[in-house]
Amino acid sequence: MRLRRVDARLLDATIYLDRVLVVAGRITYRDITPSVVTLHCRKGKWSSGRTHGRWALHVTLGMDADDRECVILHEVAHLMPLSTHHDKGFYRNLFRLARRMGHDMESLIEREKRYKPRVVGSITKRRRED
Ligand SMILES: [Zn+2]
Repeated sequence: MRLRRVDARLLDATIYLDRVLVVAGRITYRDITPSVVTLHCRKGKWSSGRTHGRWALHVTLGMDADDRECVILHEVAHLMPLSTHHDKGFYRNLFRLARRMGHDMESLIEREKRYKPRVVGSITKRRRED
């Protein structure tokens, strides 16, 4: 049998995803581990992800390490309660999760702002006034 080379991104993402799921479980007091997880690698810089309900999570891993973590955090946040749509509840969960993971908040907020500028802007503005 010939052993194929395993892309290190798959190992990194598996370990990171596992930690994020543990932390999300602690925040929500429940096991949010999906039944199906698929990870793919691509040659481009950016990652993308998708969840199906609370049972499946798919992430396509790009070359940028920070962006990979942002996508994993985003998709795991969708598994948390009150987090199906990209509304304030979702972004509160995502930012709470990212802070607990010690992720760079500026890069995450910037990424999410490109995607949903209004709702992310309204949450981050209020947070600064706190
Ligand atoms: Zn999403």
